[in-house]
Amino acid sequence: MAAHMRLQGKVAIITGGAQGIGLATARKFLDEGAQVVIADRSGAAVDAVVAELGAGGAPVRGYAVDVTHAGELKALVAGLLAEAGRIDVLVNNAGITQDARLVNMTEEQFDRVIDVNLRGVFLASQAVLPAMLAQGAGVILNASSVVALYGNFGQTNYAASKAGVIAFVKTWARELGPKGIRCNAVCPGFIATSILATIPAKVLEQMRVRVPLGRLGRPEEVANAYAFLASDEASYINGAVLEVGGGLTL
Ligand code: NAD
Repeated sequence: MAAHMRLQGKVAIITGGAQGIGLATARKFLDEGAQVVIADRSGAAVDAVVAELGAGGAPVRGYAVDVTHAGELKALVAGLLAEAGRIDVLVNNAGITQDARLVNMTEEQFDRVIDVNLRGVFLASQAVLPAMLAQGAGVILNASSVVALYGNFGQTNYAASKAGVIAFVKTWARELGPKGIRCNAVCPGFIATSILATIPAKVLEQMRVRVPLGRLGRPEEVANAYAFLASDEASYINGAVLEVGGGLTL
């Protein structure tokens, strides 16, 4: 057990928590003493991860939830409130890419990415909000990306969705700050997860050399940022946009 557990007693929902950065965040939050809910679209993946993380008795629950379905999110919140009685942190981490240059991007590709990455963040945040308002406390963290700030070839839909969640955070920081709820965004750079799997090795190498630290990031390095922002150590940080990219955008 860590000497000082920064998320002791907090109940945290991590969307897209079954793999990648979300899974690393679930592990980190458990290490820091939180009760963790993994909300991901695949029930089988959720069950497998909950079985693994919970093997030693860790307080982890799983819900098969598609963040584009308001009804599923409401059921998650109702179930969690019945079991845990509160919701302290929401990490809006679920996200997808469907890349194409503007000239080729289909309406379906555009709509699907906006649906998951933008509308899903709106719906999940709205679902937890009544509980956080009743508590007079809470933290909402949105997964943005460095491409929201600088654009990216082939990512019209994705870059717009990730810029949108920064706009959410800045709006919610104003609306909800007076209610004791802090909202912040994290912009990962190039992090080694399966979301990069479709990117050719040559392009990945070009990305790597652009990073002053000379390497891709690890999911744990983004998880550490979420843990800090979720903790009371970040009690005066509201409406911030934190890059975790090794200096990529310099
Ligand atoms: P990943 O593909 O490894 O994991 C994403 C998870 O989200 C998966 O478990 C997936 O099942 C889940 N998910 C997708 N659609 C969902 C839906 N509709 N409902 C519920 N769950 C859903 O991705 P990752 O690399 O770990 O990325 C996590 C987040 O960080 C994403 O929002 C991504 O855009 C963002 N991000 C990643 C990078 C990177 O380099 N890896 C960079 C910047 C931003």
